[in-house]
Amino acid sequence: MKKNYSIALDGPAGSGKSTVAKLTAKKLGFTYVDTGAMYRTIGLYFLRNNVDISDNAAVVKALSEIEVDLEYVDGEQQVMLNEENVNAYIRTEEVGKQASIVSALGEVREKLLFLQRNMAEKKSIIMDGRDIGTVVLPNATLKIYMEASAKIRAKRRYDELTAKGVSCDLDEIEKDIIARDERDMNREISPLKKADDAEVVDTSEINPQQVSEKIIELFEKKIAD
Ligand code: C5P
Repeated sequence: MKKNYSIALDGPAGSGKSTVAKLTAKKLGFTYVDTGAMYRTIGLYFLRNNVDISDNAAVVKALSEIEVDLEYVDGEQQVMLNEENVNAYIRTEEVGKQASIVSALGEVREKLLFLQRNMAEKKSIIMDGRDIGTVVLPNATLKIYMEASAKIRAKRRYDELTAKGVSCDLDEIEKDIIARDERDMNREISPLKKADDAEVVDTSEINPQQVSEKIIELFEKKIAD
């Protein structure tokens, strides 16, 4: 049977994970699994339905009404929320913030963990998120932890939004990024942290192409060992 490989890519918001993951997946012929998009999808449902996250029964009920699925069109991941393609709705700052809030809930993480592991069993993947190397795929072929200063990450996000014609404030974005890091790193369940056996890549001074080349080099070395 063909062996499936997995690359776990973790790091804070704006460290460049998704750009690098897409490039690397293309070069290696792997499937890119964006787990942040799954948390964003749950965040979107909670926002749309005004689910009170401090009410455990309401959270459990909402989760029982949600079905999240991943589909691929021309290699691009599409997230389906109860059969609706929500890719166009999950990239806003509001949904990102809500994703970070709901992702601290154990019930939410449990629901997505199952789906994520299931993907990794079926094919060779590069999966990005916050807890991939530590919790989701502890036996990943290669684990990478990407980082960059909050200032640089905020500037990237700012450039991305202004390129889309969205008007925004750089200082506000930096504040949001720092608040998101705080929540993601200090939550009780599956906080963002480097796995002991992860390779750290600082992306502040190198471009996505160079990061991707470095990852492929590390991956090839791993599978040759
Ligand atoms: O990566 P992205 O910004 O799309 O993720 C949105 C939010 O989802 C993160 O801020 C984080 O709180 C949460 N998340 C998580 N675990 C993952 C992926 C994302 O908690 N594996």
